[in-house]
Formats: sequence, structure tokens, C-alpha cells
Amino acid sequence: MIMDSYHRGHNYLRISLTDKCNLRCFYCMPEEEYEFVPSAKLMQADEIVALAKIFVANGVNKIRLTGGEPLVRKDAKEIILALSKLNVTLTITTNATRLHLFADVFEEAHIHSLNISLDTLKPEKFLFLTRRNEFNHVKNNIDLMIRRGFHVKINVVMMKGLNDDEINDFVAWTKDTPVHVRFIEFMPFSGNKWTSNQVFTLHEILNVVKEKYEVIPLTNGVHDTAKAFTVNKHLGTFSVISTMSAPFCSGCNRIRLTADGKIKNCLFSKNETDLLTAFRKGEDVLPLIVQNIGRKEKELGGQLLSDFKKIHAEDIHNRSMITIGG
Ligand code: SAM
Ligand code: SF4
Repeated sequence: MIMDSYHRGHNYLRISLTDKCNLRCFYCMPEEEYEFVPSAKLMQADEIVALAKIFVANGVNKIRLTGGEPLVRKDAKEIILALSKLNVTLTITTNATRLHLFADVFEEAHIHSLNISLDTLKPEKFLFLTRRNEFNHVKNNIDLMIRRGFHVKINVVMMKGLNDDEINDFVAWTKDTPVHVRFIEFMPFSGNKWTSNQVFTLHEILNVVKEKYEVIPLTNGVHDTAKAFTVNKHLGTFSVISTMSAPFCSGCNRIRLTADGKIKNCLFSKNETDLLTAFRKGEDVLPLIVQNIGRKEKELGGQLLSDFKKIHAEDIHNRSMITIGG
């Protein structure tokens, strides 16, 4: 297993398949004209599989596909089926727009758990947040996947004044539906105009839920990013990913591989290591991986202050979320 200098083993690889997306969530994609990476600079399907095999040979046993929107990639099916042959738990994070085309592929690939993004239960707000009129289609696809028996987690980026009024609507959804809602504190990335007063924290979210429900804390695993809860007799659960107000870096086991083949050892890391160029030259990339993970900072890429109210987004050196792979 690849270890960092804080004795954290890294067994979880998140691969971004593309920086392209069919939605335009303002907190993820910079507003100014964004230039997508040309296809030749993206990892090709065989390169993704070959690099993944190197990670798997060195202790990775879980792979998540992400992006951009991973399912807009034309060869997504081929990549999913090839990765499913490795000895890993395979999962995916998606915006759900193309899920109806992939349910059978997921079953064939033994993908059981899906992380799906949905920040609002209101069609007009969905249009405002994503700049695309896809709410009904997305919601129908989510319902379809739940009916087909997938373990569905819903990622809700929580933003003060934008969707904090819907927290208990999401919790109400978990009453009769086995759906697992994950409220994510809004994070700063290049070009997303983050300010600390838009963060709605774990503490604030819990206070809102407790106004209406009796909240039961659930046990968390050492690598869990989400603090999980349920409400008595609800079929589903809700949780909070408290990156900004209560980070969880001490149990971090994650490595990120961007669509253009760079390793990032943290969502907020400044430094990246270019694996794809070395791989294309026929070099051994394992020493590059080991060196990159060895240099992982203790917390938040060494960039974010632990008091998020003191963070100035413009001082952070990073990519936009869509080019990292969340
Ligand atoms: N397109 C897919 C989707 O939307 O699920 C996968 C990629 S998306 C970048 C992965 C996750 O990152 C999504 O759940 C999204 O909501 C989250 N995300 C993007 N920007 C974020 C931000 N600024 N703060 C918190 N979460 C963010
Ligand atoms: Fe696309 Fe997902 Fe980013 Fe929204 S959050 S723009 S769906 S990649």
C-alpha cells in the first residue's frame, strides 16, 4: 500500500474521465469561457486501465469514476467494463442525466453504489444552479436507479441563501425512500467565486434538521468523509461532508487522477505529478506515484486555513473543480 509521511495508507483512487460536462453548475465550472482539454491530452481508455492496474498492484482496492460528467465520455461503457475486471470496488459520481443509458452497464460491472448530484428539489432552482433545464429528467433517472435497487447517495452542495431552505425537504425524502442524502459544505476552487459567508456548516445543518426531527447519529468508519445520521423510522439516512468547518484529513486514503493524467494527492493540493506524459514515454510511473503521495500535506493540501472564515479564495492555487474530479 502506498503510504504518506503521516502513515496514511492510500487504497482509494478517484479517476476523472473527462473535464467535459453537460451541466454548468456555477460552483464547479468557472463562469468565464472555459476551454476544455483537447481529447489527445486526455487519458485514452487503454491508458486509464493500464494506470489503474499499477495503482491496484500497489494496494488500491476501490476506484471511483468522476469528472466533469464521466458518462458523457463516448467510451465510458468500455472503460467501466474494463475496470470492473480489476479486483476493486467500482463506484461512480454522476449528475444523473445519462443514467437511464447505463443501468444495465452498471449491473454488468457490479457497480452497486452511485453518488448522484442534486442540489435542489425545485425545477426552477435547478435551472438557476446548473444553467440547464434538466430537473425532471434527472429526478426520474434517480427514481429509476432507486427502483432498480442501487444504493443511491445524493450529493447536495449546501449554500447559504441558495438551498439551505430545502434541508428538511431532503430529509423528508429519506422517510419512505432508501436514499442517502449527503449535504456537502461549499468549498473554494479556482473561479467559483467562493466566499466564507456562503458556507452553511455541519452545525447549522444539524440545527435546522433538529427543529423538525429527532436526529440519531450513526457510527462512522475511519475513512468516512461524511458524518452520518438518521431519523427514527426513516428508510434512508442523511450525512454532512464538513470539509470547511470540521475537516476529516486524518483518515484520508484518497488519490486523485485528473482526466489529463496528473496525480493530485488532495482536492486542495498545489502540486501535481504528470503521470500520463511519463507513461507515454514508457517510463516507470510507480516512483512518481510514491513520491507524490509521500509529499502529501497533513491537512487540506497545506493551503486552506482551519478557520474557514479567514480563507481568501483568491490566495488558493488550484484548479477548478470540474478539472480536478470531485
Ligand atoms: N458530474 C458529476 C456530478 O456532478 O456528480 C461528477 C463530478 S462533480 C465535480 C463531483 C461532486 O463535486 C459533485 O457532487 C459536486 O456537487 C461536487 N462539487 C463541485 N464543486 C463543489 C464545490 N465548490 N463545493 C463542494 N462540492 C462541489
Ligand atoms: Fe458538471 Fe458535476 Fe460540475 Fe455540475 S458538479 S458542472 S454536473 S461536473
